[in-house]
Amino acid sequence: MPFEPDSNASAAPLTQPNPSATARPRLSVIGTGYLGATHAVCMVELGYEVIGLDVDEAKIKALCAGQIPFFEPGLPELLAKHIDSGKLRFTTDFAEVAAFADIHFVCVGTPQQKGQYAADMTYVRSAFESLAPHLNRRALVVGKSTVPAGTAEQMATILAELAPNKEVELAWNPEFLREGFAVADTLAPDRLVFGVRSEWAEQTIRSAFEPVIATGTPVIVTDFATAELVKVAANSFLATKISFINAMAEVCEATGADVIQLADAIGHDARIGRRFLNAGLGFGGGCLPKDIRAFIARAGELGVDQAVSFLRDVDEINLRRRARVVELGLELVDGSYAGTKVAVLGAAFKPNSDDIRDSPALDVAAAVGRRGARVQVFDPQANANARRVHPELSYADSLDEVIDGVDLIMLLTEWQEFRSMDPETVGQRVARRNLVDGRNVLDPIQWRSSGWVYRALGRP
Ligand code: NAD
Repeated sequence: MPFEPDSNASAAPLTQPNPSATARPRLSVIGTGYLGATHAVCMVELGYEVIGLDVDEAKIKALCAGQIPFFEPGLPELLAKHIDSGKLRFTTDFAEVAAFADIHFVCVGTPQQKGQYAADMTYVRSAFESLAPHLNRRALVVGKSTVPAGTAEQMATILAELAPNKEVELAWNPEFLREGFAVADTLAPDRLVFGVRSEWAEQTIRSAFEPVIATGTPVIVTDFATAELVKVAANSFLATKISFINAMAEVCEATGADVIQLADAIGHDARIGRRFLNAGLGFGGGCLPKDIRAFIARAGELGVDQAVSFLRDVDEINLRRRARVVELGLELVDGSYAGTKVAVLGAAFKPNSDDIRDSPALDVAAAVGRRGARVQVFDPQANANARRVHPELSYADSLDEVIDGVDLIMLLTEWQEFRSMDPETVGQRVARRNLVDGRNVLDPIQWRSSGWVYRALGRP
């Protein structure tokens, strides 16, 4: 049943951030991709009424029909529950959104520009320019997209120029959810960051996160530039940590050392920590690679390119891992992929996701295919997305099918199904027992004792 807004309540100006103990602000979410769809559904779960908007009609149709257009554990169930509850609906109409909501979260994409490092800001600008002319009553617009420092300033100017109501304000609230854990991360984030310019904006955005704040979640209230930078700084740190251990893996390979033991040993130091020190094929996805590149580009514009020049090395180390995995496989097929049959396990950029944006696994699969191997890929969730981008590769429907009669297995995305493979059972189906463990998740002793030639990054 479509949700009917209470016309009196929605027409009333938002004079207080949270007008009464029972009447919470109404929310809109503009851009219902990975971030926006998750945010919209989870905010209803937290007790708010939400309207989601996207310019992609097919996406809105799917969401209205209760379908999440990507794989995210737990999200389809919550969407179905809340479509039924009548507290969540979707539209493509900016006027409808402006009339309904007190607080608007902008969650549109900021992909890397083609052929450049900088982020493509056309979607963010367009979302603000489409919404602003409809803002006839006081409202808070909250940017959630990951953006170059200085964007909020520009968006505040767009609101000031285009919104008929001159009390409309902006806040910036970067998002830290991880795909695969997006529901839990949204319902119980490890921190909230609010970039605001007024007491009213702070109180209003607090009212949108009241149940989360009530659980003791740390809140950092700051200015626009800091809020924007928190997100890119966090992603730069995480990318650096991954590339650091992958750089150590390169040194380990040259010295005969074992990067897993090295990571365990240094990870015991609480100042370092073991998390994000898993050497392997490196990072990909729709965030880390494009965020560090956009940061490099923005730092250049700001005249502080030297401050983040190390991020170029972080990016290069990461991309070198892909080339190294192709080489490791080559060693196992006697120096030529031509005519060999190769099983690639995994296509998503990480497990529990069907996101193939900048996926290391698919990059390697395509490179091995270009060198003459007959590559077959199997991913528990991402086959369909992978096929759209790499129709030249073939795809299997199961683990059993993909490994049948192959000369080489390359484990490139660490789904649980692959981590728990049994070397004997798998060995019965292949032509040759050759394995590249691109994620360092299998036990080399166990696999080698079953007659496998096992190779991994950074280990003897
Ligand atoms: P996405 O590509 O999955 O979704 C973006 C959506 O915005 C699309 O559905 C698109 O149709 C819509 N859109 C584009 N222009 C629009 C407009 N003018 N008005 C309304 N909708 C419009 O991207 P995403 O992964 O959800 O990322 C969105 C932002 O969130 C990015 O800045 C990203 O860096 C950031 N972010 C993403 C994640 C993540 O895990 N995916 C985590 C944290 C932050």
